[in-house]
Amino acid sequence: METSPLEIEIRRRIALAGPMPVRQFMTLCLTHPQHGYYMTRDPLGRDGDFVTAPEISQIFGELIGLWAAAVWQAMGQPENVRLVELGPGRGTMMHDALRAAHVLPAFRAALVVHLVEISGTLQRRQRETFEKTDVPMLWHESFDEVPDGPIIVVANEFVDALPVHHAVKQLNGWYERVVEIDPNGNLAFGIAADRMPQFEQTLPLAVRDAPIGSLYEWRTDSILLEVSRRLVRQGGAALVIDYGHVESAVGETLQAVGGHAFANTLAAPGSIDLTAHVDFQALAFAVESMGATVSGPIEQAEFLRRLGIEQRAAALKAIAAPDKADEVDVAVARLMGQEATGMGKMFKAIAFGDPRLGPLPGFVG
Ligand code: SAH
Repeated sequence: METSPLEIEIRRRIALAGPMPVRQFMTLCLTHPQHGYYMTRDPLGRDGDFVTAPEISQIFGELIGLWAAAVWQAMGQPENVRLVELGPGRGTMMHDALRAAHVLPAFRAALVVHLVEISGTLQRRQRETFEKTDVPMLWHESFDEVPDGPIIVVANEFVDALPVHHAVKQLNGWYERVVEIDPNGNLAFGIAADRMPQFEQTLPLAVRDAPIGSLYEWRTDSILLEVSRRLVRQGGAALVIDYGHVESAVGETLQAVGGHAFANTLAAPGSIDLTAHVDFQALAFAVESMGATVSGPIEQAEFLRRLGIEQRAAALKAIAAPDKADEVDVAVARLMGQEATGMGKMFKAIAFGDPRLGPLPGFVG
């Protein structure tokens, strides 16, 4: 196979600066300005590499819209609120959310929508989705560009795309995992020459005591810390839905997906998707450290049930043609599914917000 332009670039960097931490490799693969996976394509949908919950059923985005409306009410119905989505993909979830928001006109009238999207290609895709939308919409490459003011933040399958570090436990401590060139001239995993001396103290106990050879993944992205800082200072709440584990643990979850099938992580830099599970315990710990109050995580199936997925599905079926009614059932079964191919159990929802709001909608009762 021909070497991709991004692989040439990665090899050049390794030749210049030595083995590259996994985090840097993942960052380049996903968001290198010219050759990054998200920068060059729309990966979603049946013809793409993967399908997300909002692409499975309009009900998903509608329920997220109702969640945001309930948060707005809990905030005391501010006259202006910024509804922010991180990593909106095709914009489907927000589009469905805004339609559902018609049930609470005062909420819809209070909204300015901010889409935080690093990829110019996907920004263009999103602008098409919102061509006819009557709510003010603004686009940003990073969350820092979202102006001050109360915010409601939503993110589906966004955090799994944020790059992870890897560390490997050796006899005398932890070493960062790197990508290097092996003796045959291939990209390969290795470990850094130097130990990370203070690393162990930062680890949860279950990870610290793991056997030699264990691998630990973690994220150092500051975006959710920034979101938390804003929520606590200016009011609001955030909802993150993604797949992952509720307790920090050792083990590799970094995976490559191309054309709906698993692929080799190092095989085709820039042309396959790389993701890693979300460590919800670490996420909760990080946002709490900024003063935000955490609700959840709970499984997606439970969250959607509490938001009323069953009633919404029944209402949709009542007005649908018979074959479309079956499609609603199939989609709901996929969103709620408890088995490995379903999303109900593997995906979790976590919310965090201004402590004055108390427990957040969808997480109580
Ligand atoms: N939320 C959508 C898309 C998920 S794919 C859905 O559920 O269908 C991940 C999205 O995050 C893509 O839109 C991708 O371009 C965006 N993204 C990835 N890394 C990003 C970053 N660092 N900053 C902003 N957006 C990012």
